[in-house]
Amino acid sequence: LSHVRHLFVTGLFVFACPTDGSAGSARVTQLELARTIDALAAIGPKPSGTDGARTAAAWLRNRFVEAGIADVHTETYRFPRDDVRSSSLAISGRAVAHDVLDGSGAGQATGRLVWVGQALDLRGIDLHGRIALVERHPLHHRSAQYARVAAAGAAAMIYVSSAPGDLRQVGSVRNGWEPMGTIPALTISGADGRWLHRALAVSELEARVRVEAVVTPATGANVVARIRGVGPGTVVVGAHYDSWFAGATDNGAGVAALVALASRRQGRSAPPVDLVFVGFDGEELALYGAYAFLRRHRGEDIRGVIDLETPAARGAALRGLAHSAGAMDAALRSAQLDRQYPGYLGVELVPRIFGGVIPTDVQGFYRLGFSVASTAVDAPYYHTSADTPDKVDLDRLADAVEGFDRAISDLVERGSGSSGAPWHIDAHTKEGEVVLTVRDERGTPQAGAMIDVSAFEGDFLLRGSRRAVTDPRGVAKVPVPSCQWMHVAASRDYPLAEAIVEP
Ligand SMILES: [Zn+2]
Repeated sequence: LSHVRHLFVTGLFVFACPTDGSAGSARVTQLELARTIDALAAIGPKPSGTDGARTAAAWLRNRFVEAGIADVHTETYRFPRDDVRSSSLAISGRAVAHDVLDGSGAGQATGRLVWVGQALDLRGIDLHGRIALVERHPLHHRSAQYARVAAAGAAAMIYVSSAPGDLRQVGSVRNGWEPMGTIPALTISGADGRWLHRALAVSELEARVRVEAVVTPATGANVVARIRGVGPGTVVVGAHYDSWFAGATDNGAGVAALVALASRRQGRSAPPVDLVFVGFDGEELALYGAYAFLRRHRGEDIRGVIDLETPAARGAALRGLAHSAGAMDAALRSAQLDRQYPGYLGVELVPRIFGGVIPTDVQGFYRLGFSVASTAVDAPYYHTSADTPDKVDLDRLADAVEGFDRAISDLVERGSGSSGAPWHIDAHTKEGEVVLTVRDERGTPQAGAMIDVSAFEGDFLLRGSRRAVTDPRGVAKVPVPSCQWMHVAASRDYPLAEAIVEP
Protein backbone atom coordinates (compact mmCIF):
# COMPACT_ATOMS: atom_id res chain seq x y z
CA LEU A 1 0.00 0.00 0.00
CA SER A 2 1.26 3.37 -0.78
CA HIS A 3 0.07 6.73 0.16
CA VAL A 4 -0.25 9.26 -2.59
CA ARG A 5 -0.33 12.79 -1.45
CA HIS A 6 -1.61 15.53 -3.64
CA LEU A 7 -0.13 18.83 -2.86
CA PHE A 8 -2.25 21.76 -3.80
CA VAL A 9 -0.40 25.00 -4.03
CA THR A 10 -2.60 28.01 -3.91
CA GLY A 11 -1.58 31.45 -5.03
CA LEU A 12 -0.21 33.72 -2.38
CA PHE A 13 -1.77 37.13 -2.58
CA VAL A 14 -0.02 40.00 -0.94
CA PHE A 15 -1.84 43.20 -0.16
CA ALA A 16 0.38 46.17 0.41
CA CYS A 17 -0.64 49.17 2.47
CA PRO A 18 0.21 52.63 1.17
CA THR A 19 2.95 54.18 3.26
CA ASP A 20 3.30 57.49 1.48
CA GLY A 21 1.18 60.55 0.69
CA SER A 22 -1.79 58.46 -0.40
CA ALA A 23 -2.43 57.35 3.19
CA GLY A 24 -5.66 58.82 4.41
CA SER A 25 -7.38 58.94 1.00
CA ALA A 26 -10.42 56.74 0.70
CA ARG A 27 -10.20 54.21 -2.10
CA VAL A 28 -11.65 55.59 -5.33
CA THR A 29 -15.13 54.22 -5.88
CA GLN A 30 -16.28 52.49 -9.03
CA LEU A 31 -19.17 54.96 -9.11
CA GLU A 32 -16.79 57.91 -9.26
CA LEU A 33 -14.93 56.32 -12.17
CA ALA A 34 -18.13 55.30 -13.95
CA ARG A 35 -19.40 58.87 -13.73
CA THR A 36 -16.60 60.09 -15.98
CA ILE A 37 -16.73 57.10 -18.32
CA ASP A 38 -20.51 57.37 -18.77
CA ALA A 39 -20.47 61.14 -19.29
CA LEU A 40 -17.78 60.98 -21.99
CA ALA A 41 -19.38 57.94 -23.69
CA ALA A 42 -22.75 59.72 -23.78
CA ILE A 43 -21.20 62.50 -25.88
CA GLY A 44 -20.51 59.92 -28.60
CA PRO A 45 -17.67 60.27 -31.13
CA LYS A 46 -15.10 62.89 -30.15
CA PRO A 47 -12.46 63.21 -32.89
CA SER A 48 -10.31 66.31 -32.42
CA GLY A 49 -11.78 69.46 -33.92
CA THR A 50 -15.41 68.29 -33.80
CA ASP A 51 -18.35 69.38 -31.63
CA GLY A 52 -18.04 66.10 -29.70
CA ALA A 53 -14.45 66.89 -28.71
CA ARG A 54 -15.40 70.46 -27.73
CA THR A 55 -18.23 69.17 -25.53
CA ALA A 56 -15.85 66.68 -23.90
CA ALA A 57 -13.23 69.40 -23.31
CA ALA A 58 -15.81 71.64 -21.62
CA TRP A 59 -17.00 68.74 -19.45
CA LEU A 60 -13.43 67.89 -18.40
CA ARG A 61 -12.60 71.52 -17.62
CA ASN A 62 -15.66 71.66 -15.33
CA ARG A 63 -14.64 68.46 -13.57
CA PHE A 64 -11.20 69.89 -12.76
CA VAL A 65 -12.82 73.11 -11.52
CA GLU A 66 -15.34 71.16 -9.42
CA ALA A 67 -12.42 69.30 -7.87
CA GLY A 68 -11.22 72.67 -6.58
CA ILE A 69 -8.17 73.11 -8.81
CA ALA A 70 -7.52 76.84 -9.22
CA ASP A 71 -5.42 76.82 -12.40
CA VAL A 72 -7.51 75.16 -15.12
CA HIS A 73 -7.27 76.28 -18.72
CA THR A 74 -7.33 75.03 -22.30
CA GLU A 75 -4.47 75.21 -24.76
CA THR A 76 -5.57 75.18 -28.39
CA TYR A 77 -3.78 74.13 -31.55
CA ARG A 78 -4.74 74.28 -35.22
CA PHE A 79 -4.42 71.34 -37.57
CA PRO A 80 -5.63 70.14 -40.99
CA ARG A 81 -8.59 67.83 -40.37
CA ASP A 82 -9.15 65.13 -42.97
CA ASP A 83 -12.90 65.02 -43.70
CA VAL A 84 -14.31 62.15 -45.75
CA ARG A 85 -17.18 63.43 -47.91
CA SER A 86 -18.13 60.09 -49.45
CA SER A 87 -16.64 56.69 -50.12
CA SER A 88 -17.47 53.38 -51.72
CA LEU A 89 -16.03 49.88 -51.79
CA ALA A 90 -17.19 47.18 -54.18
CA ILE A 91 -15.66 43.73 -54.53
CA SER A 92 -16.56 42.03 -57.80
CA GLY A 93 -19.56 44.31 -58.04
CA ARG A 94 -20.84 43.86 -54.47
CA ALA A 95 -20.86 46.74 -52.00
CA VAL A 96 -18.91 46.03 -48.80
CA ALA A 97 -19.54 47.87 -45.49
CA HIS A 98 -16.46 49.90 -44.59
CA ASP A 99 -14.99 52.98 -42.95
CA VAL A 100 -12.16 55.10 -44.29
CA LEU A 101 -8.99 55.07 -42.18
CA ASP A 102 -8.07 58.58 -41.08
CA GLY A 103 -5.14 60.21 -42.82
CA SER A 104 -5.23 57.88 -45.81
CA GLY A 105 -5.41 59.25 -49.34
CA ALA A 106 -8.36 60.25 -51.47
CA GLY A 107 -9.05 59.09 -55.04
CA GLN A 108 -10.18 56.07 -56.95
CA ALA A 109 -8.52 52.72 -57.47
CA THR A 110 -9.53 49.57 -59.25
CA GLY A 111 -7.45 46.43 -59.21
CA ARG A 112 -7.10 42.81 -58.36
CA LEU A 113 -7.46 42.11 -54.64
CA VAL A 114 -4.35 40.48 -53.14
CA TRP A 115 -4.15 38.92 -49.68
CA VAL A 116 -0.89 40.01 -48.03
CA GLY A 117 -1.56 38.73 -44.50
CA GLN A 118 -0.23 41.11 -41.87
CA ALA A 119 2.11 42.74 -44.41
CA LEU A 120 5.05 42.43 -42.03
CA ASP A 121 7.55 41.79 -44.83
CA LEU A 122 6.71 42.73 -48.41
CA ARG A 123 10.27 42.74 -49.76
CA GLY A 124 10.26 41.51 -53.35
CA ILE A 125 6.47 41.73 -53.62
CA ASP A 126 5.13 43.99 -56.35
CA LEU A 127 1.66 45.32 -55.63
CA HIS A 128 1.47 47.82 -58.49
CA GLY A 129 -2.07 48.03 -59.79
CA ARG A 130 -3.25 45.74 -56.96
CA ILE A 131 -5.36 46.38 -53.91
CA ALA A 132 -3.85 44.91 -50.77
CA LEU A 133 -6.05 43.02 -48.32
CA VAL A 134 -4.23 43.37 -44.97
CA GLU A 135 -5.04 41.63 -41.73
CA ARG A 136 -4.90 43.60 -38.50
CA HIS A 137 -1.99 42.65 -36.24
CA PRO A 138 -2.68 42.82 -32.51
CA LEU A 139 0.42 44.96 -31.90
CA HIS A 140 2.18 46.00 -35.10
CA HIS A 141 0.64 49.36 -36.00
CA ARG A 142 -1.66 49.88 -38.99
CA SER A 143 0.33 52.98 -40.02
CA ALA A 144 3.43 50.78 -40.52
CA GLN A 145 1.37 48.25 -42.51
CA TYR A 146 -0.05 51.12 -44.60
CA ALA A 147 3.39 52.60 -45.32
CA ARG A 148 4.65 49.17 -46.39
CA VAL A 149 1.82 48.30 -48.81
CA ALA A 150 2.01 51.82 -50.29
CA ALA A 151 5.79 51.44 -50.76
CA ALA A 152 5.19 48.09 -52.50
CA GLY A 153 3.05 49.96 -55.03
CA ALA A 154 -0.48 49.03 -53.92
CA ALA A 155 -3.24 51.27 -55.28
CA ALA A 156 -5.27 50.98 -52.06
CA MET A 157 -5.33 49.11 -48.77
CA ILE A 158 -8.25 47.18 -47.31
CA TYR A 159 -7.75 46.50 -43.63
CA VAL A 160 -9.41 43.50 -42.00
CA SER A 161 -10.53 44.18 -38.41
CA SER A 162 -9.95 41.67 -35.63
CA ALA A 163 -12.91 42.76 -33.45
CA PRO A 164 -15.81 40.33 -33.04
CA GLY A 165 -18.50 39.84 -35.69
CA ASP A 166 -19.36 42.68 -38.02
CA LEU A 167 -17.55 45.34 -36.00
CA ARG A 168 -15.08 47.47 -37.90
CA GLN A 169 -11.94 48.89 -36.28
CA VAL A 170 -11.19 52.41 -37.38
CA GLY A 171 -8.06 54.45 -36.75
CA SER A 172 -5.46 56.67 -38.29
CA VAL A 173 -2.68 55.63 -40.67
CA ARG A 174 -0.49 58.71 -40.27
CA ASN A 175 3.20 58.48 -39.52
CA GLY A 176 3.65 62.21 -39.26
CA TRP A 177 1.43 65.22 -39.88
CA GLU A 178 1.08 65.02 -43.62
CA PRO A 179 -2.52 66.11 -44.38
CA MET A 180 -3.29 63.03 -46.45
CA GLY A 181 -1.57 59.74 -47.21
CA THR A 182 -0.64 58.42 -50.62
CA ILE A 183 -3.35 55.80 -51.18
CA PRO A 184 -6.91 55.22 -49.92
CA ALA A 185 -7.25 52.83 -46.98
CA LEU A 186 -10.54 51.34 -45.86
CA THR A 187 -11.37 49.11 -42.90
CA ILE A 188 -13.83 46.21 -43.11
CA SER A 189 -15.12 43.72 -40.54
CA GLY A 190 -13.29 40.53 -39.64
CA ALA A 191 -16.29 38.53 -40.86
CA ASP A 192 -16.17 40.16 -44.32
CA GLY A 193 -12.38 39.89 -44.42
CA ARG A 194 -12.41 36.16 -43.69
CA TRP A 195 -15.04 35.67 -46.37
CA LEU A 196 -12.90 37.55 -48.92
CA HIS A 197 -9.80 35.61 -47.93
CA ARG A 198 -11.63 32.31 -48.54
CA ALA A 199 -13.12 33.57 -51.81
CA LEU A 200 -9.65 34.57 -53.07
CA ALA A 201 -8.50 30.98 -52.66
CA VAL A 202 -10.88 29.89 -55.42
CA SER A 203 -11.13 32.90 -57.73
CA GLU A 204 -9.74 36.31 -58.55
CA LEU A 205 -11.63 39.28 -57.16
CA GLU A 206 -11.64 42.82 -58.42
CA ALA A 207 -11.87 45.64 -55.90
CA ARG A 208 -13.10 49.13 -56.69
CA VAL A 209 -12.33 51.83 -54.11
CA ARG A 210 -13.38 55.45 -54.13
CA VAL A 211 -12.72 58.05 -51.42
CA GLU A 212 -13.64 61.69 -51.65
CA ALA A 213 -12.06 63.72 -48.86
CA VAL A 214 -11.21 67.31 -48.17
CA VAL A 215 -8.77 68.89 -45.77
CA THR A 216 -10.43 71.43 -43.46
CA PRO A 217 -8.65 73.73 -40.99
CA ALA A 218 -9.70 72.75 -37.45
CA THR A 219 -8.84 73.56 -33.85
CA GLY A 220 -8.15 71.13 -31.03
CA ALA A 221 -7.72 71.81 -27.30
CA ASN A 222 -5.78 70.26 -24.43
CA VAL A 223 -7.39 70.71 -21.02
CA VAL A 224 -4.69 71.55 -18.46
CA ALA A 225 -5.07 71.61 -14.66
CA ARG A 226 -2.04 72.62 -12.59
CA ILE A 227 -1.54 72.05 -8.87
CA ARG A 228 1.33 74.25 -7.73
CA GLY A 229 4.20 72.60 -5.96
CA VAL A 230 6.49 74.12 -3.37
CA GLY A 231 9.64 73.64 -5.46
CA PRO A 232 10.72 73.78 -9.10
CA GLY A 233 9.86 71.09 -11.64
CA THR A 234 6.78 69.43 -13.04
CA VAL A 235 5.32 65.95 -13.17
CA VAL A 236 2.76 65.51 -15.96
CA VAL A 237 -0.14 63.07 -15.73
CA GLY A 238 -2.10 62.76 -18.97
CA ALA A 239 -4.90 60.93 -20.73
CA HIS A 240 -6.38 61.65 -24.14
CA TYR A 241 -10.09 62.43 -24.16
CA ASP A 242 -10.68 62.33 -27.93
CA SER A 243 -12.21 59.11 -29.25
CA TRP A 244 -13.58 57.55 -32.43
CA PHE A 245 -16.92 56.42 -31.02
CA ALA A 246 -18.08 56.37 -27.38
CA GLY A 247 -14.50 55.40 -26.52
CA ALA A 248 -15.16 54.00 -23.05
CA THR A 249 -12.00 51.92 -22.69
CA ASP A 250 -10.05 54.12 -25.17
CA ASN A 251 -9.94 56.43 -23.45
CA GLY A 252 -12.81 57.26 -21.08
CA ALA A 253 -11.20 54.91 -18.57
CA GLY A 254 -7.94 56.84 -18.79
CA VAL A 255 -9.72 60.17 -18.28
CA ALA A 256 -11.66 58.71 -15.33
CA ALA A 257 -8.37 57.76 -13.68
CA LEU A 258 -6.93 61.21 -14.53
CA VAL A 259 -9.87 63.03 -12.91
CA ALA A 260 -9.77 60.76 -9.85
CA LEU A 261 -6.03 61.30 -9.38
CA ALA A 262 -6.33 65.08 -9.81
CA SER A 263 -9.26 65.27 -7.36
CA ARG A 264 -7.51 63.45 -4.54
CA ARG A 265 -4.25 65.37 -5.08
CA GLN A 266 -6.15 68.65 -4.77
CA GLY A 267 -7.27 67.62 -1.30
CA ARG A 268 -3.73 67.18 0.01
CA SER A 269 -0.86 69.46 0.96
CA ALA A 270 1.14 71.10 -1.85
CA PRO A 271 3.42 68.61 -3.63
CA PRO A 272 7.20 69.13 -3.88
CA VAL A 273 6.87 69.93 -7.62
CA ASP A 274 4.01 71.10 -9.83
CA LEU A 275 1.53 68.43 -10.83
CA VAL A 276 0.03 69.05 -14.26
CA PHE A 277 -3.00 66.97 -15.21
CA VAL A 278 -3.67 67.08 -18.96
CA GLY A 279 -6.61 65.88 -21.01
CA PHE A 280 -4.88 65.52 -24.37
CA ASP A 281 -6.82 66.06 -27.58
CA GLY A 282 -6.04 64.69 -31.03
CA GLU A 283 -4.27 61.50 -29.93
CA GLU A 284 -6.33 59.33 -32.24
CA LEU A 285 -5.56 61.41 -35.32
CA ALA A 286 -1.85 62.06 -34.97
CA LEU A 287 -0.85 62.66 -31.33
CA TYR A 288 -1.52 66.35 -31.99
CA GLY A 289 -2.33 67.28 -28.40
CA ALA A 290 0.82 65.81 -26.87
CA TYR A 291 3.08 67.51 -29.43
CA ALA A 292 1.20 70.81 -29.05
CA PHE A 293 1.80 70.50 -25.27
CA LEU A 294 5.51 69.77 -25.83
CA ARG A 295 5.83 72.86 -28.02
CA ARG A 296 4.01 75.14 -25.61
CA HIS A 297 5.85 73.84 -22.54
CA ARG A 298 9.32 73.89 -24.11
CA GLY A 299 11.88 74.69 -21.45
CA GLU A 300 9.68 73.51 -18.57
CA ASP A 301 11.55 71.20 -16.20
CA ILE A 302 9.40 68.09 -16.77
CA ARG A 303 10.59 65.36 -14.39
CA GLY A 304 8.28 62.62 -15.59
CA VAL A 305 5.18 61.93 -17.69
CA ILE A 306 2.58 59.32 -16.77
CA ASP A 307 0.06 58.62 -19.53
CA LEU A 308 -3.15 56.74 -18.76
CA GLU A 309 -3.92 55.09 -22.10
CA THR A 310 -6.62 52.38 -22.20
CA PRO A 311 -5.70 51.41 -18.62
CA ALA A 312 -8.35 48.71 -17.99
CA ALA A 313 -10.65 46.70 -20.26
CA ARG A 314 -12.71 43.59 -19.62
CA GLY A 315 -11.30 40.55 -21.37
CA ALA A 316 -7.85 42.07 -21.87
CA ALA A 317 -5.25 39.37 -22.46
CA LEU A 318 -2.27 41.72 -22.32
CA ARG A 319 -1.92 44.48 -19.76
CA GLY A 320 1.05 46.62 -20.63
CA LEU A 321 2.96 49.34 -18.82
CA ALA A 322 5.82 50.77 -20.88
CA HIS A 323 8.26 52.90 -18.94
CA SER A 324 11.61 54.62 -18.84
CA ALA A 325 14.33 53.17 -16.61
CA GLY A 326 15.64 54.85 -13.46
CA ALA A 327 13.37 57.06 -11.36
CA MET A 328 10.20 56.16 -13.28
CA ASP A 329 10.81 52.43 -13.07
CA ALA A 330 11.55 52.73 -9.34
CA ALA A 331 8.37 54.76 -8.71
CA LEU A 332 6.17 52.29 -10.61
CA ARG A 333 7.70 49.30 -8.87
CA SER A 334 7.39 50.88 -5.45
CA ALA A 335 3.65 51.15 -6.17
CA GLN A 336 3.62 47.52 -7.38
CA LEU A 337 2.31 48.60 -10.76
CA ASP A 338 4.62 46.03 -12.33
CA ARG A 339 2.30 43.42 -10.76
CA GLN A 340 -0.89 45.12 -11.92
CA TYR A 341 0.49 45.28 -15.46
CA PRO A 342 2.36 42.04 -16.18
CA GLY A 343 3.34 43.39 -19.61
CA TYR A 344 5.80 45.63 -17.76
CA LEU A 345 8.42 46.59 -20.34
CA GLY A 346 11.03 49.19 -21.20
CA VAL A 347 9.53 51.85 -23.46
CA GLU A 348 12.46 51.46 -25.89
CA LEU A 349 11.02 48.03 -26.82
CA VAL A 350 7.67 49.50 -27.92
CA PRO A 351 8.77 50.76 -31.37
CA ARG A 352 10.38 47.38 -32.05
CA ILE A 353 7.05 45.67 -31.39
CA PHE A 354 4.75 48.25 -33.03
CA GLY A 355 6.67 48.92 -36.25
CA GLY A 356 8.76 51.96 -35.34
CA VAL A 357 6.11 53.97 -33.52
CA ILE A 358 5.01 54.43 -29.94
CA PRO A 359 1.34 54.73 -30.81
CA THR A 360 0.25 57.04 -28.00
CA ASP A 361 0.93 60.39 -26.39
CA VAL A 362 4.24 59.53 -24.70
CA GLN A 363 6.00 59.07 -28.06
CA GLY A 364 7.14 62.69 -28.36
CA PHE A 365 7.99 63.03 -24.68
CA TYR A 366 10.17 59.92 -24.85
CA ARG A 367 11.93 60.91 -28.07
CA LEU A 368 12.58 64.41 -26.69
CA GLY A 369 14.25 62.85 -23.67
CA PHE A 370 11.65 62.98 -20.90
CA SER A 371 11.11 60.10 -18.49
CA VAL A 372 7.79 58.44 -19.36
CA ALA A 373 5.32 55.71 -18.51
CA SER A 374 2.21 54.65 -20.39
CA THR A 375 -0.37 51.97 -19.80
CA ALA A 376 -2.10 50.08 -22.64
CA VAL A 377 -4.24 46.96 -22.49
CA ASP A 378 -5.58 45.07 -25.50
CA ALA A 379 -9.26 45.93 -25.35
CA PRO A 380 -11.25 43.48 -27.50
CA TYR A 381 -13.60 46.24 -28.72
CA TYR A 382 -10.74 48.68 -29.38
CA HIS A 383 -11.69 51.40 -31.90
CA THR A 384 -15.16 50.00 -32.58
CA SER A 385 -18.68 51.31 -32.03
CA ALA A 386 -19.00 48.68 -29.25
CA ASP A 387 -16.36 50.30 -27.00
CA THR A 388 -19.08 51.18 -24.49
CA PRO A 389 -18.90 51.66 -20.67
CA ASP A 390 -19.73 48.01 -19.93
CA LYS A 391 -16.36 47.07 -21.53
CA VAL A 392 -14.32 48.84 -18.83
CA ASP A 393 -12.93 46.70 -16.01
CA LEU A 394 -13.78 49.06 -13.11
CA ASP A 395 -12.15 46.81 -10.51
CA ARG A 396 -8.79 46.95 -12.21
CA LEU A 397 -9.23 50.64 -13.02
CA ALA A 398 -9.75 51.40 -9.32
CA ASP A 399 -6.59 49.38 -8.54
CA ALA A 400 -4.72 51.39 -11.17
CA VAL A 401 -5.80 54.69 -9.58
CA GLU A 402 -4.45 53.53 -6.20
CA GLY A 403 -1.22 52.35 -7.81
CA PHE A 404 -0.58 55.50 -9.83
CA ASP A 405 -1.44 57.68 -6.84
CA ARG A 406 1.40 55.99 -4.94
CA ALA A 407 3.70 56.14 -7.98
CA ILE A 408 3.12 59.90 -8.35
CA SER A 409 3.94 60.42 -4.66
CA ASP A 410 7.17 58.55 -5.18
CA LEU A 411 8.02 60.30 -8.44
CA VAL A 412 7.62 63.84 -7.10
CA GLU A 413 10.09 62.99 -4.32
CA ARG A 414 12.56 61.06 -6.43
CA GLY A 415 13.32 63.78 -8.97
CA SER A 416 14.30 63.54 -12.57
CA GLY A 417 15.25 60.70 -14.81
CA SER A 418 16.10 60.44 -18.48
CA SER A 419 13.76 58.86 -21.01
CA GLY A 420 16.26 56.21 -22.07
CA ALA A 421 15.85 57.14 -25.74
CA PRO A 422 18.96 55.85 -27.53
CA TRP A 423 19.77 59.20 -29.14
CA HIS A 424 19.23 62.85 -28.50
CA ILE A 425 19.37 65.84 -30.83
CA ASP A 426 21.05 69.10 -30.00
CA ALA A 427 19.53 71.77 -32.24
CA HIS A 428 20.30 75.45 -32.76
CA THR A 429 20.10 77.94 -35.59
CA LYS A 430 23.19 79.78 -36.79
CA GLU A 431 23.74 82.04 -39.80
CA GLY A 432 20.58 80.95 -41.56
CA GLU A 433 21.14 77.26 -40.93
CA VAL A 434 19.69 74.75 -38.49
CA VAL A 435 22.64 72.92 -36.95
CA LEU A 436 21.69 69.50 -35.64
CA THR A 437 24.00 67.22 -33.68
CA VAL A 438 22.97 63.65 -32.91
CA ARG A 439 24.56 61.84 -29.98
CA ASP A 440 23.87 58.64 -28.13
CA GLU A 441 23.31 58.35 -24.37
CA ARG A 442 27.05 58.46 -23.66
CA GLY A 443 27.48 61.59 -25.79
CA THR A 444 29.12 59.83 -28.74
CA PRO A 445 28.30 61.60 -32.05
CA GLN A 446 26.26 59.45 -34.44
CA ALA A 447 27.41 59.49 -38.06
CA GLY A 448 25.04 58.46 -40.83
CA ALA A 449 21.85 59.27 -38.91
CA MET A 450 18.94 60.07 -41.19
CA ILE A 451 17.51 63.49 -40.34
CA ASP A 452 14.05 64.65 -41.35
CA VAL A 453 13.25 68.31 -40.85
CA SER A 454 9.60 69.30 -41.34
CA ALA A 455 8.53 72.93 -41.39
CA PHE A 456 5.12 73.95 -40.07
CA GLU A 457 2.83 76.96 -40.06
CA GLY A 458 -0.53 77.32 -38.33
CA ASP A 459 0.68 74.81 -35.76
CA PHE A 460 0.37 71.64 -37.85
CA LEU A 461 0.15 72.77 -41.49
CA LEU A 462 3.11 71.11 -43.21
CA ARG A 463 4.95 73.65 -45.39
CA GLY A 464 7.81 71.48 -46.54
CA SER A 465 10.33 68.91 -45.46
CA ARG A 466 13.97 68.05 -46.09
CA ARG A 467 16.12 65.04 -45.49
CA ALA A 468 19.79 65.08 -44.52
CA VAL A 469 22.36 62.65 -43.15
CA THR A 470 24.75 63.39 -40.29
CA ASP A 471 28.47 63.64 -41.07
CA PRO A 472 31.25 61.80 -39.13
CA ARG A 473 30.94 64.38 -36.32
CA GLY A 474 27.22 63.55 -36.03
CA VAL A 475 26.27 66.93 -37.51
CA ALA A 476 23.75 67.84 -40.22
CA LYS A 477 22.95 71.35 -41.39
CA VAL A 478 19.90 72.48 -43.35
CA PRO A 479 18.86 76.00 -44.37
CA VAL A 480 16.32 77.52 -41.97
CA PRO A 481 12.98 77.30 -43.78
CA SER A 482 10.38 80.02 -43.53
CA CYS A 483 8.01 78.63 -40.91
CA GLN A 484 6.56 78.91 -37.43
CA TRP A 485 8.42 75.89 -36.09
CA MET A 486 10.36 72.83 -37.18
CA HIS A 487 10.01 69.23 -36.16
CA VAL A 488 13.22 67.22 -36.40
CA ALA A 489 13.50 63.44 -36.28
CA ALA A 490 16.75 61.45 -36.29
CA SER A 491 16.29 57.86 -37.42
CA ARG A 492 18.15 54.64 -37.98
CA ASP A 493 15.36 52.20 -38.93
CA TYR A 494 12.83 54.45 -37.18
CA PRO A 495 13.02 57.72 -35.23
CA LEU A 496 15.28 57.39 -32.17
CA ALA A 497 15.14 61.06 -31.16
CA GLU A 498 13.15 64.17 -31.96
CA ALA A 499 13.57 67.89 -31.46
CA ILE A 500 11.33 70.92 -31.71
CA VAL A 501 13.04 74.02 -33.15
CA GLU A 502 11.53 77.49 -33.23
CA PRO A 503 13.58 79.77 -35.50
ZN1 LIG B 1 -6.17 55.74 -27.03
